[in-house]
Amino acid sequence: MARIGILAVQGAFAPHAQVLRSLGHEPVLLRAPEHLEGPLAGMVFPGGESSVQIDLVARLGLEPGIRAVLDAGVPVLATCAGLILLARDVDADSAHRQWSFGAVDLAVVRNGWGRQVDSFEDASEQGRPLIFIRAPRIVRVGPAVEIVDRYRGEPVLVRAGAIMAATFHPELSEGDGLHREVFGAAAASASAAQ
Ligand code: GLN
Repeated sequence: MARIGILAVQGAFAPHAQVLRSLGHEPVLLRAPEHLEGPLAGMVFPGGESSVQIDLVARLGLEPGIRAVLDAGVPVLATCAGLILLARDVDADSAHRQWSFGAVDLAVVRNGWGRQVDSFEDASEQGRPLIFIRAPRIVRVGPAVEIVDRYRGEPVLVRAGAIMAATFHPELSEGDGLHREVFGAAAASASAAQ
């Protein structure tokens, strides 16, 4: 069992907690600086509204603790708004460039796959189920970033060191494939062990 932090200030953190539990891990909901003090074996940045998340991260004093986790190089899964929080450039070509942790050398455009009414489901080039909800569009990928999967030729899943970042919502799809890939499973079969 590994303690995996989940940024839980806003958005779709609960489904991530459920998937992590099913893999035998201990999700730790991160809402206060002291939640980031115990050793974390990994961290999830969930979907939601990135501008609100950033505001709350600053107001709740979570930024230094999160930076320390990112610097520690533990496995990280970022989805949708979470990817936006970690990208280097967010809406850089617009008048509303957004602050971010800059941990992954990507440029993204918020809502680049359409607005809420355009949320949709499809499959990636490798057959991963994709749920897009006002998803960010990756418009530049740095040389050290590996493109793991694409949709219509465009990157939707990338890896940079220990960070896996998706423009879609794996936690809302059937299966635990991506969480298992990033964090492993604690027991041979966590569900069988219960
Ligand atoms: N459009 C949202 C944002 O900019 C992200 C959407 C999502 O996480 N589902 O934060």
